[in-house]
Amino acid sequence: MQSSKEVNDHYLESELLPWHQHQWDIFIRQVQHKKLAHAYLLCGAEHLGKSQFALTMAKWILCKQFNPSACKMSCQGCILLNSNSHPDLIHVNPSKKNTDIKIDQIRDFTEIIAQTAKLGGYKVAILSPADNMNKYAANALLKTLEEPSEDTVIILVSSNQAKLLPTIRSRCQKIIFTNPSLKISSNWLANKVSNQEQIKELLYISNNSPIKAVDNFTAKKNYYQEFVKAISNMLKGKKSIVETAKDLQDQDLDSLLSWMLGWINDSIVFALTKDKQLIHEASFTIAKFFASNNTIVKLFELRDYLIKQQKVLIQHINTNKQMLMEAIFCRYIELVM
Ligand SMILES: [Zn+2]
Repeated sequence: MQSSKEVNDHYLESELLPWHQHQWDIFIRQVQHKKLAHAYLLCGAEHLGKSQFALTMAKWILCKQFNPSACKMSCQGCILLNSNSHPDLIHVNPSKKNTDIKIDQIRDFTEIIAQTAKLGGYKVAILSPADNMNKYAANALLKTLEEPSEDTVIILVSSNQAKLLPTIRSRCQKIIFTNPSLKISSNWLANKVSNQEQIKELLYISNNSPIKAVDNFTAKKNYYQEFVKAISNMLKGKKSIVETAKDLQDQDLDSLLSWMLGWINDSIVFALTKDKQLIHEASFTIAKFFASNNTIVKLFELRDYLIKQQKVLIQHINTNKQMLMEAIFCRYIELVM
């Protein structure tokens, strides 16, 4: 989510998302009092704009005036940042999506931050996603965190901080991000999507994450509709479990799980209340069907099972997606038997 738009008075403020204000206020106070932490841990669920926030932090730390809005690109730091070529900003990311951050990457970055800042100010390192560090990389980072240098700020970005070593977590100042309220999300989305009904639907299929909602809005395919069709065909016996899992293997498993969990949650609500108003339109037919054909105990059991699978997915980077989907679909089939 790096912005390439031209810098103007509102450039940096505009990068802050409406649900970042509280976190930003905490950080900016530290900048103003020149009391920066040696390491920050930006944590919270995925798709909340944490990496964007980390980059904006870096921009303020590396501006010679500690205020790019006031600086108006008059310093070398801001000019180099704007062209993505600041020598004292280091990004550490996995070489490929869903792979580990390796010890060699941490060693390389440690070497760079051991040197004096090229522009004479701070050095900033952004590690993202920090929970993708393997244990060797994590131990190497821990050593760096134990001996912080005065002019370095390390920013870890994590959607699953439980996977980080407790000793790493305790050496960082935490900045926590939470899902915005429906009202804040809807207002923000209204600038990008004009149809209110579509906003509701997009937020539903995006697990109330506005950034994910924009991704779904701009995606060429309607993944949710495709998923509903695939599951419906499987439940009707038109396709096997294995075929369905194969057909859906390119989809984001995280989304699939949250949709399935959403259906079961809605089924439980409907089974208990029989109130249509409490169920999202997009899942009403399926929720009503499950609620009418299953006991509440069975629905709760499946709910617990899906939550457990979500945890498995979060904790293991290299999950066998096909097998996990097949196992989940087997449980789903039981709902219609
Ligand atoms: Zn500047």
